[in-house]
Amino acid sequence: MIRSNLRAAALALILGATLAAQVPPAAAVAPAPVPHPDCVFCRIIAGTAPSRKVYENQYVLAFWDIRPRAKVHLLVIPKQHVASLKELDDLSVETRAALLSACVKVARDQGILEDGFRLISNSGTNASQSVFHLHFHVVGGERLREDAITKDPGAR
Ligand code: ZN
Repeated sequence: MIRSNLRAAALALILGATLAAQVPPAAAVAPAPVPHPDCVFCRIIAGTAPSRKVYENQYVLAFWDIRPRAKVHLLVIPKQHVASLKELDDLSVETRAALLSACVKVARDQGILEDGFRLISNSGTNASQSVFHLHFHVVGGERLREDAITKDPGAR
């Protein structure tokens, strides 16, 4: 019984993999992003606000931070609006994977992969998140301070 169940499970896996391999790439198209009112990153995605774009695919967009804090300071965002990492589970698995892959890709494209870079996502008030559309900072191009995680001296 156990053996036949294992065989059935293995067959299902093989069939699933075979079926998945036959799905044309067009079926994996991400849903059209729904712009969030008053979100500057949604306006950048829609093309109604300017940005220095460095990379884009169906899931994500990467562009220069408007106020770079290092020689290289890029932002990688999902095209679907979610406020922060708190809402990560609202994104498709494909989008979540694309976000991380895009961070590494843009680091490589900017020539900062080998010497090192930092990936940061501020989530919520205590992290001083400023734009409430999930974004990853890709920072590098120079030696970064080790203690970038500090308490705001003005905070109580
Ligand atoms: Zn947005």
